[in-house]
Amino acid sequence: MARRKKIYEGKAKILYEGPEPGTIVQYFKDDATAFNAEKKDVIDGKGVLNNRLSEYFMNGLNQIGVPTHFIRRLNMREQLVRNCEIVPLEVIVRNFAAGTMSKRLGIAEGTQLPRPIVEYCYKDDALGDPLVTEEHIAAFGWASQQDMEDILSLALRVNDFMSGVMLAVGIRLVDFKIEIGRVYEGDFQRLIIADEISPDSCRLWDIETGQKLDKDVFRRDLGSLTDAYSEVARRLGVLPKSNVSKPTLIN
Ligand code: C5P
Repeated sequence: MARRKKIYEGKAKILYEGPEPGTIVQYFKDDATAFNAEKKDVIDGKGVLNNRLSEYFMNGLNQIGVPTHFIRRLNMREQLVRNCEIVPLEVIVRNFAAGTMSKRLGIAEGTQLPRPIVEYCYKDDALGDPLVTEEHIAAFGWASQQDMEDILSLALRVNDFMSGVMLAVGIRLVDFKIEIGRVYEGDFQRLIIADEISPDSCRLWDIETGQKLDKDVFRRDLGSLTDAYSEVARRLGVLPKSNVSKPTLIN
């Protein structure tokens, strides 16, 4: 079979030309990176878990009317998504202080924030994705005022959905990052959730024990990343209850 045309290879995913116009195949790799790829490893099974978990979250969002790029999962490592133009921003929503916010502002990790706080970073690996303000975004034309209103509303809806889904399985959604895509429908443009939503891009803590079930396990050398992601998948019913460390996926 002729190999599909590779469009882009990132740190955790590869994008291939899709089977129909306007589609893309998103392939999840096992590569884990942190600190802008200063720390790297290959984690057996991570891509399979993230493909399945991202499918679960994006499907749920589509079902409640939050538009995403997700069309359908193709196999263990690939999903079909809508081709879109990525807005060059990482949109971060925080419910509890952690990570760079704790470092920057000197707030203890785990402190509940008075309300969800949305931050924007400019997507540029060479610059280390710097935090930017809406002034920068408007002045440099990365997104319009209307886009920013839509992005804020999408980000808060994703936060409500994800917080509820995780709470139901005893997990606290501390923070997460999403990316936004632009699609054109006739003369209109629409913003949708793109990229992935997975434990690579969220902070997830067990409500009872505080145990970390996200990429911080890799960033901070806290144990097995596959065990942590498998636990999230198991609680959500994405993996059978009897799962041990090797992921056995159900359809
Ligand atoms: O590192 P920081 O505390 O700013 O990260 C906030 C949230 O955004 C975390 O859940 C982290 O996993 C996610 N993030 C990401 N990709 C980045 C930066 C942050 O998924 N490039």
